[in-house]
Amino acid sequence: MNDKSITILQLYPRDMNIYGDWGNTLVLKRRLQWHGYTVNLIEYNPGDTFPTDVDLIVGGGGQDSGQDVIQTDLLAIGPQLRELAEKDVPMLMICGLFQLFGKFFKTQDGHIIKGISLLDLETHAGPERLTGNVITESDEFGEIIGYENHSGMTFLGKNVMPLGKVIKGAGNNGQDDSEGARYRNIIATYMHGSLLPKNPAIADFLIEKAVMRKYGEFIPTVVDDRFAQQARAVAIKRPR
Ligand code: GLN
Repeated sequence: MNDKSITILQLYPRDMNIYGDWGNTLVLKRRLQWHGYTVNLIEYNPGDTFPTDVDLIVGGGGQDSGQDVIQTDLLAIGPQLRELAEKDVPMLMICGLFQLFGKFFKTQDGHIIKGISLLDLETHAGPERLTGNVITESDEFGEIIGYENHSGMTFLGKNVMPLGKVIKGAGNNGQDDSEGARYRNIIATYMHGSLLPKNPAIADFLIEKAVMRKYGEFIPTVVDDRFAQQARAVAIKRPR
């Protein structure tokens, strides 16, 4: 253990935290500890004071109703999130918060849940839910494995890149083979499941960015990822 610490902020765990999303935070916490860092984990719910000092931000998915609940608060902290994103703070946004980091989500019943427009994308509820196991291929992280369950169909604008190309599953919209979004040090994706236990390369990317920003150097430990490899091998064989 060194004397360095990293602060993780979990956005809206009360309302936006489904299909194992909390596991992403646990992975980041544990891997940071393995790499020798002390972890300070802050949970942020509507009405809380937004912390001034954060190194890594994580957000999960939620029902449309959960997205309605957090909307006003999210729009209020949008400028702070945007400033942190432009300062290259690493962030992981899953499903419901992936959508609301974009411009808006138009739900099945036709109402608009506004997003903070940090990511150049918009989401429209489609005629069917896109549900099942997902595999994508990305230049940065190789094969990414997860699970999706969303009605929203997300379309990327020109200022963001997809996180990966769909090999199995629907991805952003079931039409253009894109999955997720990449912008600065933000990773946004529809993959729950949870994502990071099965994709440690993404966890270590987020950790490295957080540590490098704060301390200027990152000396990783070699982590024994046998269980993660086994989980990947099993997940990859599962039917859609
Ligand atoms: N409510 C959103 C949708 O159905 C997000 C779902 C989720 O976060 N899993 O598209």
